[in-house]
Amino acid sequence: MELYSGYINKLIEELAALPGIGSKSAQRLAFHLINMPRDKVQRLADAIMTAKENVRYCRECFTLTDREVCPVCASQKRNHKQIMVVENTRDLAAYEKTGRYEGVYHVLHGAISPMLGIGPGDIKLKELMERLQGEVEEVIIATNSSLEGETTAMYIAKLIKPTGIRVTRIASGVPVGGDLEYIDEVTLLRALEGRVEL
Ligand code: ZN
Repeated sequence: MELYSGYINKLIEELAALPGIGSKSAQRLAFHLINMPRDKVQRLADAIMTAKENVRYCRECFTLTDREVCPVCASQKRNHKQIMVVENTRDLAAYEKTGRYEGVYHVLHGAISPMLGIGPGDIKLKELMERLQGEVEEVIIATNSSLEGETTAMYIAKLIKPTGIRVTRIASGVPVGGDLEYIDEVTLLRALEGRVEL
């Protein structure tokens, strides 16, 4: 006997497939959605589809944007010879919030993780190396201090070293495994200013 309607089961299944949503949360969300007024549900569904259809990767740095080139890459005020490598767009946003970083970014969209089967070819690494063909003076590696983030940092440093471009790593002091987006601005700035040569 099916406990819920098949429609609800399907909704729970889809929600549970999202990152960070366990089966209990998925059930809670599904029932919440069903009990919401129809127009609110419609607004949520529209927001998801509109975002999906209009958001794309910046041609230069691969951050998520609704333009061909994101505002940071398009800005003449930024130092385009200094590239900060981050794992995702949320990390970029965390550094942008400090208002003190004047270079540009490169968003990897992930980190190397042998355990999860994520290799160098699964993140935007080739794209980073292509950018280095241009005029670049420094690559600041700001991946997380998790095992995956460190593995990625070492891998990138090894790739870039032979090019002669300066490679630095943000200082530790950023909590282990901590997502950059949850770290306060002072800590982020200190990590940036205290970056070390690799
Ligand atoms: Zn960009």
